[in-house]
Amino acid sequence: MGNLSKTEPLDGLRNHAYLEKQNKLREIGVDIPTSQIVVVGGQSSGKSSLLENLTGFSFPRGHGLCTRYATQITLRQSAVASVVISIIPRPDADDKTKDRLRAFRQELDDFAAEDLVDVIEEANMTMGIRPSESKDTTLPMFSDDILKVEISGPDKPHLTVIDVPGLFEVTKEGMSRFTTDLDKAQVRQMARRYMENERTIVLAVLSCISDPATEGILQLAKEADPDGVRTVGVLTKADLAREQTMMQGLAQLVNDGTLKLGYFIVRNRGGDEQDLDIGECQLKEKVLFKQPLWAELAKTGRLGVDALREELRILLTELAKRELPKQRAEVDQRLIDCRKKLEAMGAPRDDLPSQREYLIKLASQFESIVRDALDGRYEGNPVFHEKPELKLATEIIELNEGFSDLMWERGHTWEFLSKPSDSPKTADTSEYEEKSTTALDSVSALPELQQIVSCDTARLAPLEILETQIMDHIGEYYRNSRGPELGTFGGSLLAMTFRAQTSNWRTIVMAHVETVIVIVHRFIKALLRHVVVDQRMRDELWDSVLVEKLTKAYSRAKSQADSLLGIELNGRPSTYNRSFNDTLQQARLDRLTRAIRQAGDEIDDDGGNGHAGLASRLTNLVFNKSNPEQVKEDIHDILESYYKISCKRFVDVICRLVVESDLLERNGSPLKVLTPALISRMSDEQLDMIGGEEVATKRERKRLESDIKGLKAAKKVLRG
Ligand code: GDP
Ligand code: MG
Repeated sequence: MGNLSKTEPLDGLRNHAYLEKQNKLREIGVDIPTSQIVVVGGQSSGKSSLLENLTGFSFPRGHGLCTRYATQITLRQSAVASVVISIIPRPDADDKTKDRLRAFRQELDDFAAEDLVDVIEEANMTMGIRPSESKDTTLPMFSDDILKVEISGPDKPHLTVIDVPGLFEVTKEGMSRFTTDLDKAQVRQMARRYMENERTIVLAVLSCISDPATEGILQLAKEADPDGVRTVGVLTKADLAREQTMMQGLAQLVNDGTLKLGYFIVRNRGGDEQDLDIGECQLKEKVLFKQPLWAELAKTGRLGVDALREELRILLTELAKRELPKQRAEVDQRLIDCRKKLEAMGAPRDDLPSQREYLIKLASQFESIVRDALDGRYEGNPVFHEKPELKLATEIIELNEGFSDLMWERGHTWEFLSKPSDSPKTADTSEYEEKSTTALDSVSALPELQQIVSCDTARLAPLEILETQIMDHIGEYYRNSRGPELGTFGGSLLAMTFRAQTSNWRTIVMAHVETVIVIVHRFIKALLRHVVVDQRMRDELWDSVLVEKLTKAYSRAKSQADSLLGIELNGRPSTYNRSFNDTLQQARLDRLTRAIRQAGDEIDDDGGNGHAGLASRLTNLVFNKSNPEQVKEDIHDILESYYKISCKRFVDVICRLVVESDLLERNGSPLKVLTPALISRMSDEQLDMIGGEEVATKRERKRLESDIKGLKAAKKVLRG
């Protein structure tokens, strides 16, 4: 290993550690970008020669070998000199392949060309890429694995450089190495990927004697690094630049500032210097830059491979230092994500007991979140914070209150006399109506509910309280049902007027029940998405078990509402509520008060006939009223008292029996659709269909497990 005669000042151990971490991270094979230096350039621009000059390593020439993978050359300062060639597997390889690739390791005493050729051919075979002479297109032409050449020795600086397959390479014979356009595209893609990594320092190689304006590599580098903050230009073949004009061009390029990291100029082994020792070539470089022609440029300190190497070492160490905290954070985040995903997948479910166990776990989770959602216990589980639509108790309470208000405001057909027509509404129901309309409209996207929710929202259109006076209608009913009784009315008259007065109830009640059904349904779907993460499993569970149970439960709630409506509206008006009489007395008292006040107003208008006027008007009030009128007023008052009691009672009945019990709490309610008991009762076939794991799931689990393993190792490396 006498090839490398450079003696670098030993840099601090701390700095070594930063670079070492990046090397280790790359080897672990997790998908976290590492800080690195990558050499790119056009064909015959001198990349390989530059690498040799930088590191002492060169690919054996003229053996039909070409690199169809990235080669990482790592220089490492160590007491013992050695050259080790190994393979860093691509991050997305499976564990078996990774193990096989990692097993490849060859130690060399020297860069003796023959040995090296053998080792590289063996490495190619291990990676499974197509041998150069083979036409077997089933083998890939390129590999994302990395060939690693690790050169250690007491005189080696700490530095890692990655050589990416040439972008536009052609063999010496002028034959394209990459036979198809696809190959070309692939190799370009590989170079791009390396260059686009924000943690890559791009070493853009071009020759002094080329025209930078036409150098594709500068264009490519600009695309990957638009601000030119991580691209170092390297001009090779300094020995071929002899004329003054060329020197001026170089000086201009070096000073133009488009690349913030600037240019370096080097002289590598020439085409006719194959027999020279690399040390001799490096000596020639030193001699060249001492010549007067280079005196001006020498002042920049950017001539020669030593200056370049030192600069790269500093740049790379700084980059590695700067990026380390970000890499740590990335690893932590990736670990959290992977663990979350893996946890959501549950333990491997290869047999029925483990499938049952897994589904029971999910069902209990479902059950417990439902419990919390119903009790309004939102603090315990972060899911309520992430998905506010799961705060069911709150939503239902708001809906029930809105329903109660709407019934009170708009349930009746005619306004009672006790309520002046211009009196303001006591509650604003517009928010409830809007919520309900939106919910009912959303059913068009929920085909499974189309048989259940029939309320088209038009039916909820503003229920106009009829302008017609209530007394006219009572009068009409009274005339049509009048019997021979004097001063009284038949019981059916109250039932009839009550039915007419409640004609809006059915619409409002059914719309409410259906609204709650939609809200509950959406809650269940959202919760299932959260609990049963595997979509296939969720779909299977949904289609084969849940939908049917749910629609049954919804239908039951609806028929319950229907039968309650029947009892309330069509049955004989009846109440045992003691306040009925109080309310009735109150209504009568109100009527009298109203009449007296009116009489008083009229007297004032008369200009004051005094007590005599008041007395005569009061007499009018009581005695000069026809009997039917008296009866109608009685009917009105009784109807009003009964209506108020019935409305309050019925709102409670619907909210408690239908909403709270049928739709939320009771056994068999939609929210109890998924229980551990249900899973326990499932047949083996059903269980296997729902809980079994697909190949893709198994593969995903393996991948996650391997990622976690890698990330843990990466974490250790980055923290250590
Ligand atoms: P690559 O295709 O970019 O890897 O270029 P190579 O490193 O294979 O170089 C192409 C040819 O240019 C080879 O014959 C090298 O010996 C020659 N070459 C590279 N750098 C220099 C240099 O600085 N001076 C001279 N005279 N020849 C060079
Ligand atoms: Mg080359």
